Amino acid sequence: LMGFVGFANLPNQVHRKSVRKGFQFTAMVVGESGLGKSTLINTLFNTTLYPPKETLPPSAERPSTVAIESISADIEESGVRLRLTVVDTPGFGDFVNNDECWRPIVENIEARFDSYLEQENRVNRQKIMDNRIHACLYFIQPTGHALKPIDVEVMRQLHTRVNLIPIIAKADTLTDEEVAEFKARILADIAHHNIHIFQAPTYENEDDEAIAEAEEIASKIPFAVVGSDKEVTTPDGRKVRGRAYPWGVVEVDNEDHCDFVKLRQMLVRTYMEELREYTNTVLYENWRTEKLLSMGV
Ligand code: GDP
Ligand code: MG
Repeated sequence: LMGFVGFANLPNQVHRKSVRKGFQFTAMVVGESGLGKSTLINTLFNTTLYPPKETLPPSAERPSTVAIESISADIEESGVRLRLTVVDTPGFGDFVNNDECWRPIVENIEARFDSYLEQENRVNRQKIMDNRIHACLYFIQPTGHALKPIDVEVMRQLHTRVNLIPIIAKADTLTDEEVAEFKARILADIAHHNIHIFQAPTYENEDDEAIAEAEEIASKIPFAVVGSDKEVTTPDGRKVRGRAYPWGVVEVDNEDHCDFVKLRQMLVRTYMEELREYTNTVLYENWRTEKLLSMGV
């Protein structure tokens, strides 16, 4: 077996901050069609979840995602249960009219808020299912230039409703230098357009190691990721998850090659609790207030 650390092998630190009972964490992937969203989900879960490869003709590519669908896995770590869900969305560009391509996504996020509110209003609030989106991975095409108008538009529609985490898709198609320049440009564009992305908080009373880890992760945003659910062999004979090129292999789990490991670490370890907290106390509360005001309550 390969030495990947999938969601199924979460390090113990996940539960560092909270979590006595079972809880839910839900991430969503958003972005243009063909940027590797479905592939990254499979990479995160460390398995080919859909479609079953056998049913595809040998040459077939992964079919494009046509509906919002979610994949869940129950994880148990040190006696703590975690239900992890990733919501896959159809990419923009799959529709004739992309003007309001963000609408079904926003509706989905808000429907989850609605469901939570409805549960909170019940007499018996013992068993609330938290299906709210705690993190939204926004995939940016690796053009090496700048954010596209559609990215700006979609992120602006989403940033008040969800923790946005920008990601450079298919980073294996850029050189290290191009990635570094593109990251700086993306951050500048995001600031210029007043888009709010998830800010990783740091705590003064944390130990040095935790602060160093947090700063390291923050420095990688927007994460440059490579997804692959295939095993390839490196020139020195190691079997790894990655993508093979005539000039070599780009390894998914190698931090010198891409930021996949850091992204996963942020989601399931370092900032899972902060992502849940911000969703609950800021994003959900703002939505709730707006909704009540609009109803004249
Ligand atoms: P989606 O439409 O965003 O869900 O994209 P898919 O996951 O269906 O992937 C679209 C195509 O891009 C497939 O042929 C994948 O094999 C390929 N792909 C996925 N991730 C990567 C990546 O990190 N790098 C490269 N070069 N190709 C990728
Ligand atoms: Mg897809």
